[in-house]
Amino acid sequence: MKITVLGTGTSIGVPVIGCKCDVCSSADPHDRRLRSSAVVEIQGKRILIDCGPDFREQILRLPFGKLDAVLLTHEHYDHVGGVDDLRPFCVFGAIPIYAEALCVKHLKERMPYCFGENRYPGTPELELHEIVPGESIDVGGVSVLPIRVMHGKMPIVGFRIGRFAYVTDMSDMPEDSFAHLKDLDCLILNALRHTPHHSHQTIKEALSVVEKLGRPKTFLTHLAHTAGLHRDSARFLPEHVRFAYDGLVMNLPE
Ligand SMILES: [Zn+2]
Ligand SMILES: [Zn+2]
Ligand SMILES: [Zn+2]
Repeated sequence: MKITVLGTGTSIGVPVIGCKCDVCSSADPHDRRLRSSAVVEIQGKRILIDCGPDFREQILRLPFGKLDAVLLTHEHYDHVGGVDDLRPFCVFGAIPIYAEALCVKHLKERMPYCFGENRYPGTPELELHEIVPGESIDVGGVSVLPIRVMHGKMPIVGFRIGRFAYVTDMSDMPEDSFAHLKDLDCLILNALRHTPHHSHQTIKEALSVVEKLGRPKTFLTHLAHTAGLHRDSARFLPEHVRFAYDGLVMNLPE
């Protein structure tokens, strides 16, 4: 299994427009964070997790090829704003999108020209599939498990594929979900910054989740500029946890 991290920034990305802080003015490419997303390649399939407003820029950096599925964690713009840009991938056929019912509803409302009877000619061919947390879906023979996590008061999903899991925009999760995230080889987990936020966990809170899960190798994502410089992060993170960065590639056993 190959994971390519496409973006690791919070909803407004890093650098923040107009900000002159050390992180936003850093020359280190690790401190430039597009909106959070990743591609998983497994058993010859290519699965995109979230499709934010930076999707076009992110996917241009990878070889062009079929996308077998798009998994959406929730309907916030920084996770779905690039759905229209899936259009070039429709040369391989309609693209299945997997999301919870509320996210599906929002996509239909936001992009009515793409769905329903009277589609505008030339719009992307997207097949919407509703998913339910705890019920595995089959993507061309690859089993994907949606897992319930909470984004403040909003229920959203993370995904587990084999011994890899991707959880973003979480503030906390129900006890049941911890059981679905045991025995991981690798976890991508959100952590916004050092100070509390109503709908995202802090770096410290993320570390306690990692601890509770038995310390899998973890990369933190959805980082704000106030999380600090990438090069300083190893000083306050344990050895098995690192800041993710745009372009990070991991090869895991399938
Ligand atoms: Zn987000
Ligand atoms: Zn800044
Ligand atoms: Zn969100």
